[in-house]
Amino acid sequence: MSRPIVATIDTAALRQNLAVARKAAGGSRLWSVVKANAYGHGIERVWQSLQETDGFGLLDLEEAILLRERGWKKPILLLEGFFHQEDLDILDRYRLTTSVHSNWQIQALAKAKLSAPLDIYLKMNSGMNRLGFQPEQVHNAWQKLRSLPNVGEITLMAHFAEAETAEGIAEPLQRIEQAAEGLDCPRSLANSAATLWHPQTHHDWVRPGIILYGASPSGQWQDIAGNGLKPVMTLTSEIIGVQQLGPGARVGYGGLYRASEEQRIGVVACGYADGYPRISPTGTPVMVDGVMTRIVGRVSMDMITVDLTPCPQAGIGSAVELWGNHVKIDDVAAASGTVGYELMCALAPRVPVIVV
Ligand SMILES: *Cc1c(COP(=O)(O)O)cnc(C)c1O
Repeated sequence: MSRPIVATIDTAALRQNLAVARKAAGGSRLWSVVKANAYGHGIERVWQSLQETDGFGLLDLEEAILLRERGWKKPILLLEGFFHQEDLDILDRYRLTTSVHSNWQIQALAKAKLSAPLDIYLKMNSGMNRLGFQPEQVHNAWQKLRSLPNVGEITLMAHFAEAETAEGIAEPLQRIEQAAEGLDCPRSLANSAATLWHPQTHHDWVRPGIILYGASPSGQWQDIAGNGLKPVMTLTSEIIGVQQLGPGARVGYGGLYRASEEQRIGVVACGYADGYPRISPTGTPVMVDGVMTRIVGRVSMDMITVDLTPCPQAGIGSAVELWGNHVKIDDVAAASGTVGYELMCALAPRVPVIVV
């Protein structure tokens, strides 16, 4: 028999979340962001449940090719653009829309021999200072691109560093307005947070990612709890061992947790080699046998120890939810000093996945 840990992907939740995102987006078209192997869910497993989308946003050419080979004919956007001149052959063959964030890419487009023009997302740097042209360079880049026979439709693209708050988008929006003045082209600005919370950013295409998987762009589940979003990934396992601790007994590597009184703890078949964060401290939420409790002690490679005090009936074989519908991935992440994005992306290849 195999180890009891399993990740379950809920395709009905994907469809529901896409509907929620679409409703939030108003009339804007929607790129479903499936980069990083669909945020760890598996692009092959999820894309069909997202077929109602207008396009897929991702950044690995392999993922784009996979979607084309499975029969996806609508647009695919390369969020990080192409990486080498030679990549343009693949963009041409598979008809991929690409972001363009640097001058060398404009030159590469000028030199390329394409069968037909490619649609371009002209990426501007609105203050995050990762990729993109400075606002004052946007017009020039646009003119250069417009003059190239290899370039089809040009959409202005920007990305927010802090779309959780109104203050976070005010300055970048101002820069975008300034850069876009006099340019007659579609725009795509909004990630999940902006799609949910800032309609003035929606424009022609929104680009939600995390909300499709049912987690919060702010890292706080409460922020999306009323939106009808549903967790897509549930990570479950079982109790495979029980220890009865006496007062003063310690648990796990480093003996980080010490029982102050008699206490039962359960050992769960899940560890950091499965993608559960090693850094998660005592107190991180977990559900055993339908009862909310907490992990105790150090997460090890293959096991986690949990407090069975609130669930005295639990024992070997009891069901454990590490995250999912009851234990929100945002809450596990918050307890661990990170965000749900990182946890879902880190699901390890050794964890069997079931699609329901
Ligand atoms: C990842 C990404 C998104 C989606 O971000 P979420 O916060 O997951 O909605 C949108 N746009 C770009 C350029 C991205 O890289």
